[in-house]
Amino acid sequence: MDFLEAPPLPFYFTPEHEQFRATLRSFISREISPHVAEWDEAETFPRELYARIAALGVQGLGYPEAYGGTPCDVFHNIVVAEEFARCGAGGLQASLNSHSIALPPILRAGSEVLKARVIPPVLAGQKIAALAVTEPSGGSDVAALRTTAVRDGDHYVVNGEKTFITSGMRADFITTAVRTNPANKGAGGISVLVIDGDTPGLSRTSLKKMGWWSSDTAHLRFDNCRVPASNLVGVENEGFKTIMNNFNTERLFMAALGYSFAAVCLEEAVDWTRQRTTFGVPLSERQVVRHKLMDMAMRIEASRTLVYDLAYRFEHKLDDPARLVARICLAKVQATQAMQFCADQAVQLLGGMGFMRGTRSERIYREVKVMMIGGGSEEIMKDLAARQLGR
Ligand SMILES: Cc1cc2nc3c(=O)[nH]c(=O)nc-3n(C[C@H](O)[C@H](O)[C@H](O)COP(=O)(O)OP(=O)(O)OC[C@H]3O[C@@H](n4cnc5c(N)ncnc54)[C@H](O)[C@@H]3O)c2cc1C
Repeated sequence: MDFLEAPPLPFYFTPEHEQFRATLRSFISREISPHVAEWDEAETFPRELYARIAALGVQGLGYPEAYGGTPCDVFHNIVVAEEFARCGAGGLQASLNSHSIALPPILRAGSEVLKARVIPPVLAGQKIAALAVTEPSGGSDVAALRTTAVRDGDHYVVNGEKTFITSGMRADFITTAVRTNPANKGAGGISVLVIDGDTPGLSRTSLKKMGWWSSDTAHLRFDNCRVPASNLVGVENEGFKTIMNNFNTERLFMAALGYSFAAVCLEEAVDWTRQRTTFGVPLSERQVVRHKLMDMAMRIEASRTLVYDLAYRFEHKLDDPARLVARICLAKVQATQAMQFCADQAVQLLGGMGFMRGTRSERIYREVKVMMIGGGSEEIMKDLAARQLGR
């Protein structure tokens, strides 16, 4: 049984999805999986990988053809999450995919000139885009951000700091949330600016992390950075909504990654317990071990089924929007908790080997925490869900 894949579900996945899945699976098993350990140790990966996966159509999924993209439904993104998880390295995927949080605000609200300059080279894998919202003073309370952008003629002068920014070291374009109205300390004073990576006054520092080693994560400082006013995304002081709008798809994607990484742990645990014999009997024949494996499978199946259901409802606009937001928040929590449970059980079943670098379960065990914090932490997800449901 392949734990990484549900039985064929023609209701959700068409032959086109499956063909895309097969191409991606083959590329990942040949060109990515054999290298992820080495890239993690090196805390980087070859920049050319962006162009290579762009050539497969991955970077452009869901973007208009006019900018080099390929319109598609949300199930294509689920295929990407499920297939990338097989390599067992979340950091690589996070970096390659940082455009998925950086570009949507530009696509939705940017001027034609800005869209034409930024989006095509990023979708082609020639340039890298990052989203900079979180600040040292806090990430959950986005409306309280402090980085300022003061209008000066045809420019904004930006001062402040951003932290934990994925692709922050390499990004050519940084979609940045700034405060343009100092009198309004809340959501109403926030705008979005694209800050080019070579802007004088921008300095970047790489951060060391518990996991996601191959992904670059940066602390950014803006010291009197002069940013052309034409880089404003949408209307001044209306940026908060532009940033928040993308969260449904980001969280569905993270939920799909969550159960997929969990399934990698289950697969590794099944293989290991079939091969490992103690006291003359394979581990997999012990009832306590089989129960652990089924406890893992149960959580994976429940999360995967929920995500498919929500993706379908999202795609076909079947739910009341507030209810859908709430359920997607809860799905992200459930799937990342499944990932945490399965990583823990797999490392335990692998014994000392589970503590060694080189197994996917060991890496996933270190990487699960960021999945429970980034893209909206567990506490924030539950609070938001409760509010959306009117509780
Ligand atoms: C590896 C990595 C990559 C990241 N990439 C990006 C990126 O590309 N761009 C970007 O902008 N950000 C990025 N982030 C930041 C991430 O989005 C934030 O870490 C996250 O939003 C939480 O913010 P914080 O770390 O400031 O924690 P805080 O907001 O300070 O929260 C700390 C803790 O308190 C809890 N908490 C906060 N408020 C409440 C409340 N009201 N009730 C109960 N509990 C609460 C939180 O859930 C959390 O457990 C990244 C983070 C990491 C670790």
